[in-house]
Amino acid sequence: MGDETKTTVQEKKVTQLKGMTLDELKNFFASIGKPRFRGEQIFNWLYNHLVTNYDDMSNIPKVLRNELKEITELKTLEYLTSVISPITGTKKYIFETNDKLKIESVVIPEEKRTTVCLSTQVGCPLDCTFCATGLMGYKRNLTTGEIFDQYMLAAKDFGKDNVTNIVFMGMGEPLLNYNNTIKALRIFSEELTTGVSIKKVTVSTAGIAPKIRELAEANLKVKLALSLHSCFEDIRSKIMPINNKYSLKQNIDAVKFYARHTGLRITFEYIMLKDINDRDEDANALIGLCSELPSKINIIPFNSLEHMNPVGFAAELEPTPIQRIDEFVEKLRNKNITVMIRDTQGDDISAACGQLAIKFE
Ligand code: SAH
Repeated sequence: MGDETKTTVQEKKVTQLKGMTLDELKNFFASIGKPRFRGEQIFNWLYNHLVTNYDDMSNIPKVLRNELKEITELKTLEYLTSVISPITGTKKYIFETNDKLKIESVVIPEEKRTTVCLSTQVGCPLDCTFCATGLMGYKRNLTTGEIFDQYMLAAKDFGKDNVTNIVFMGMGEPLLNYNNTIKALRIFSEELTTGVSIKKVTVSTAGIAPKIRELAEANLKVKLALSLHSCFEDIRSKIMPINNKYSLKQNIDAVKFYARHTGLRITFEYIMLKDINDRDEDANALIGLCSELPSKINIIPFNSLEHMNPVGFAAELEPTPIQRIDEFVEKLRNKNITVMIRDTQGDDISAACGQLAIKFE
């Protein structure tokens, strides 16, 4: 009998409130026979006040707080350690999940904005040749609570009011963890959520065409970045194997749909890889593509994978020399294309784009 009670309590304990959307929280309280407005109150505590325990929730009656402590759990991540770049102030965090997996998140403070870069998976299944996260392999999707908690822990550290932008550009492919990613986006876009506006949130994808369309139809008004890296199917397939499943053509059609449906312009991310995608014909193809839809290009200098000791093709990749990057960008800008060159923020601490990786034990 005693054991049975224990089991029931343990089973109930796994209910994770962190990560529930507003509707889910309201439904949860209804399901335990409480008023639905408690869902709104908890939403506010979790996602606006960023509280981590029930005793800080002053408008929740003590009896209910105690009941919630019994049947739910709030904590999803443990802070393990962090490193700050002495050059740029970029800070990389290592967090541990309840099942002892490690993930990384990054905060990039700049003059006019501070961006939090979130992971959506433990590792990544995509295997892009230029990316360290791919080299570490893949363990599992992160829950919505784990995605949100990266923001929460970083925002508490930097001050919630200082964080202006959120990018889903850490470890993993957000659109392969579609349900949990979209729930996190719903939380950020809820009118009740103060802090970062959904207009300042960007999801970056390697190109999961059907999910790009689904995201468009979710009407969330989140910005979309496509990791393009080449305008040619064969080259793109060589550096991004996912291109064999969802071709460039399918993805370009999908981002055109996204731009039409949301009225937002698409960002194309483009890593500069020497002799692979930095030739004149690559620039011309980009110019052609940008004429087809509202878009801008984010040029990313290739960040080294040396800390992962790559082998084979990955070991042969070299960054385009800075002078060639400038020529390439000039060519695009001469055609009135908006081009940004992304800083290699954090490469001194292996926290720059594509460098996030933790070897599994
Ligand atoms: N899976 C998603 C988001 C994670 S990667 C995506 O592919 O978009 C975030 C960005 O960093 C992507 O544009 C990715 O292509 C880029 N990136 C990966 N490895 C890199 C490297 N070594 N140097 C520079 N950028 C890299």
